[in-house]
Amino acid sequence: MERMDAVVVGAGLAGLTCAYRLACEGMQVLVLERGDHPGSKNVTGGRIYLRPLRPYLPELWDKAPLERQVTKEVITMMSAGAAFTAQFTSDKFREHSYTILRSRFDKWLGERVVERGGFIVPQRRVTDLLREDGRIAGVVSEGEEIPAHVVVAADGALSLLAEQAGLRGPLAPRHAAVALKEVIKLTPPVIEERFGLSPGEGAAHLFFGAITEGVFGGGFLYTNQETVSLGLVLGIDSFLRHPAARETHAIFEAFKGRREIAPLIKGGELVEYSAHLIPEGGNKPVRQPYTDGFLVAGDAAGLALNMGITVRGMEFAMASGYLAAQTVKQAKEKGDYSATTLAAYATLLKESFVLKDMETFRRSLDVLENPRMTGFYPAWVCKVMEDVFWIGEGPKQRVSFTIWKGIRQGLFNLRAIKDLLRLRRI
Ligand SMILES: Cc1cc2nc3c(=O)[nH]c(=O)nc-3n(C[C@H](O)[C@H](O)[C@H](O)COP(=O)(O)OP(=O)(O)OC[C@H]3O[C@@H](n4cnc5c(N)ncnc54)[C@H](O)[C@@H]3O)c2cc1C
Repeated sequence: MERMDAVVVGAGLAGLTCAYRLACEGMQVLVLERGDHPGSKNVTGGRIYLRPLRPYLPELWDKAPLERQVTKEVITMMSAGAAFTAQFTSDKFREHSYTILRSRFDKWLGERVVERGGFIVPQRRVTDLLREDGRIAGVVSEGEEIPAHVVVAADGALSLLAEQAGLRGPLAPRHAAVALKEVIKLTPPVIEERFGLSPGEGAAHLFFGAITEGVFGGGFLYTNQETVSLGLVLGIDSFLRHPAARETHAIFEAFKGRREIAPLIKGGELVEYSAHLIPEGGNKPVRQPYTDGFLVAGDAAGLALNMGITVRGMEFAMASGYLAAQTVKQAKEKGDYSATTLAAYATLLKESFVLKDMETFRRSLDVLENPRMTGFYPAWVCKVMEDVFWIGEGPKQRVSFTIWKGIRQGLFNLRAIKDLLRLRRI
């Protein structure tokens, strides 16, 4: 087989963006995807922030199949029997972030790759790296050797190829979460009425507290055009350390049945169900994302970030795919695909928002994994609010006194002060 300029493994956002850029530069690029088509195996929450990405692919966004622009941010803290919700809207949030369905978006992006002359072969699992004289020189898929000057591994959270290339080890439980997600169909007027939205507007709703039953994690709900994406994320390490934890699907069902959730999805039709890994990498990307004839991008490179108020992986996947393509282009111009030339990729990542944001939030998991964040604090907030709003048989104390008493009981202790100081890491 003729040697391609690049073989990209995985038709997710990282792989497709890389392939798109390479194809735009007139390079020969082949994408191998184990799923039936781009988007068939890809899962997100989710919403994508466009501002960091616009400079990379300015020509794409106006026609991209985005769902709703998020104009409403909602966070709900939950105890076993109560919930406290904070909501934020801002005129500034126009064209800031959009909800997205990967089955639609990735398929569309794949079509753009093909339009530009790239090749995508679905239902092709890559099993091995092809080596010549000790360096990576292509891939092996279903017994067939496919030579290439560069392999771009965009094969997601478990990246077998980055492991084979010696750039990372297997994904450790501490560095991964499992997510269960349902896409539920409702009509646009129902979505807009239930979530208080105008046509085209969307809501991003996060939940944390008792819903994860003591396990590190949280819930999410994003409104799409004609569906809502409802999911629950559970840290694998934390889950394994909870011998009493119920099966993940039982926790998810209980979450869906909560008084705060059930009315939001009432009458909806389940149209998609998925379970997927999220690499939280301890918020650490792979140290060296390149070697001779090989680059790694997106989740495969550990480029995903849990910031507490939001999860970000899609922008990192697209930007890293783009920067990988820039690096391959430079390597082709030099006629040198060695690690020395491909090291430019690490520099491009470092100079971009990708590694800057990963660095800024590198310790956010230390804060979020604190069991008191999902246990004590949501329960405490709910209890204080319960006392504020409760009118019982006897006389009621002043509201200011009730709040002050709650603060004294909950926050005037060494552990709370330590937790407060730790918040600086987010
Ligand atoms: C439930 C959930 C919620 C999330 N919420 C958000 C959110 O709201 N916002 C956000 O920005 N990020 C979110 N993320 C993270 C984000 O979805 C990921 O970071 C992003 O999808 C990574 O894209 P990728 O292209 O690197 O990997 P993927 O999309 O996983 O693509 C990898 C591709 O490689 C293919 N593949 C794997 N192995 C092989 C092989 N051997 N041969 C051939 N093909 C192979 C797979 O089939 C797949 O298509 C969420 C993730 C999950 C799971």
